[in-house]
Amino acid sequence: TAGPRSQSRFVSGERSLSLLPPGRGRLGDQQDPFMLADLDMLASRHQAFCQALPQVSPFYAVKCNSSPWVLCVLAALGTGFDCASQVELEQVLGLGVAPSRIIYANPSKPASHIRYAARHGVQLLTFDSEEELTKVAQHHPGARLLLRLRTQDRQSTFPLSTKFGASLEACGHLLTSARDLGLAVVGASFYVGSNCQTPQSFTQAIADCRCVFEMGHGAGHDMSCLDIGGGFPGTEDSGPKFEEMSWQGVISAALAQDFPEERGVKVIAEPGRFYMESFCTAAVNIIAKKAVLEPGGSRQLMYYLNDGHYGSFRLGHRKPVPRVPIVVKFCSQPPLFPCTLYGPTCDASDRLFLEDVRLPELDVGDWLVFPSMGAYTSSMSCSFNGFLPATICYTMGPQLRCLGVGVEEEAGNLTLI
Ligand code: PLP
Repeated sequence: TAGPRSQSRFVSGERSLSLLPPGRGRLGDQQDPFMLADLDMLASRHQAFCQALPQVSPFYAVKCNSSPWVLCVLAALGTGFDCASQVELEQVLGLGVAPSRIIYANPSKPASHIRYAARHGVQLLTFDSEEELTKVAQHHPGARLLLRLRTQDRQSTFPLSTKFGASLEACGHLLTSARDLGLAVVGASFYVGSNCQTPQSFTQAIADCRCVFEMGHGAGHDMSCLDIGGGFPGTEDSGPKFEEMSWQGVISAALAQDFPEERGVKVIAEPGRFYMESFCTAAVNIIAKKAVLEPGGSRQLMYYLNDGHYGSFRLGHRKPVPRVPIVVKFCSQPPLFPCTLYGPTCDASDRLFLEDVRLPELDVGDWLVFPSMGAYTSSMSCSFNGFLPATICYTMGPQLRCLGVGVEEEAGNLTLI
């Protein structure tokens, strides 16, 4: 069990309890930005993942959405967790999750965070350099290590291979160094980058991991765990959907070819976006408006919204293509104008999308609704310029209750049971 983040609100059936911090009022200002989060959706996404890749155990990537409600529900559903820092480890361990269900999957870790993992029995760690091995040998000699491989991640919206991952050529040396330091390497990991657009990115990475396993055995390591990372697309993407047979088929075929079940290798993954993208819908209010006449006589509209880049719309972690928001106001099709959507802060780069979107003429006070806002939104927001992150309103329906996950209230605090 765990208490929810202070700036949240929980609604379950008839009951509705405010969990807002003092000063913001029971409902906050009626025009503050908010998100509606559907906890039942987590059960559907978990089921979809397990059905598509039954041979793979999901370790949810906490960084994607670290809401205590999300972590509680996923812990109850039985996922493992991918943590990137001590705070994330504390959050997950604080829910009573066994350390064996956690991977500390950041190849560059502060020494104090490594010591925390060692003290709390979190053994599975990733590394990609000799320097990291030296640190782990000093602070967590009993760790079970996964060697993170560099991948070809050009097909992802957010590639990471320039920052993390060892080249295949460097692996032999890293494996012998680990052995010489008395460290146990138990497998390999990779990450194809977030919002990967093709399952083929996994095929080469899985084949490379097989080579690392052979090198590892040669160096005397007991290689028994393969971590295929995250990167699986969310539901609303324009690219090939995970549920389509190509994803399931391509990844399963690669696993069957390079890691057939009879070899007894445990396969894990670190999905984030796949679980979270469809989890939240954001409602954002227009707080100011400006109409500008362009030189050719066309009308350009600028809307200033009460949520933006420093809140739920972090540009770097969303697709550059704008999603046309649903306009609450209109029933029929009104004329559309090119519009720039700005966030509320004084930073000129605080805009929701790099390109303009086409919208009907709107007024101050109107609402825009954005679906699929659960991944890398609230977990990346801050209160720059004094604009607080959107309040999150959690709902729970019959699906979780059928699975035995419920909510209990004690002295005004809600806990998941
Ligand atoms: N694993 C690692 C190592 C990551 O760095 C990330 C995201 O940055 C994830 C998993 C989650 O990725 P995604 O949300 O694309 O599934």
